Amino acid sequence: MTSAAPDSPARILVVEDEESLLFTIAHNLRREGYEVTTALRGDDALRLVRENRPDLIVLDVMLPGVDGIQVCRLLRRDLDTPILMLTALAGEGDRVAGLDSGADDYVGKPFGMRELKARIRALLRRAGRMGEHPAKDNPTLAAGNIELDRNRHEARLGGRLLKLKPKEFELLLFFLEHPGKVFRREQILDAVWGEDYSGGLRTVDVHVRWLRQKVEEDAGAPVRLRTVRGSGYIFEG
Ligand code: CA
Repeated sequence: MTSAAPDSPARILVVEDEESLLFTIAHNLRREGYEVTTALRGDDALRLVRENRPDLIVLDVMLPGVDGIQVCRLLRRDLDTPILMLTALAGEGDRVAGLDSGADDYVGKPFGMRELKARIRALLRRAGRMGEHPAKDNPTLAAGNIELDRNRHEARLGGRLLKLKPKEFELLLFFLEHPGKVFRREQILDAVWGEDYSGGLRTVDVHVRWLRQKVEEDAGAPVRLRTVRGSGYIFEG
């Protein structure tokens, strides 16, 4: 074989009943190039693991229905998929219970996305997956006359290269990944700046304003990146 097929991205199942945290984790992992599926409940997780055979599972301990410890025990009967537990309690007992049930590693809440991603990479490496730099299946995204290339970190408007600051680029990437959906500023802040970021929500407004100056015909009357009064922002493409 002369031309190797590109590595497919590692597939990760994230199980967490707290929706905003689930969203933040999933978004951050997708941005790393992983293929992510999500579940809010333990029983759904068990079903999804059977159906999708993920390469790694991020599993919260406290879940409605079947809790994380039980999910882990049930999976461990016949699967060796790496499992990273999210433990809400800082107590040692919780961690021991998680590891006893067959989890490979754990992260105590609250945790930063950077730490979570590092643990995931380490587990995937141990499991023999090319987790360090997951392949991005399709590096380009487009909406109307906007084109963005994730790998090259470039965005173009009508073929012309846009001069974007790093966070403007990430914000544009975020909107292109989620067109037609309204996001609260908190969600945008978590997704683009990360949970660890201590700046205020105004950061989002300021960057949206800058981005509009670059992608809108009239930044004062935006049609692509619109404000939804009382809610947040929506990207209409
Ligand atoms: Ca939980």
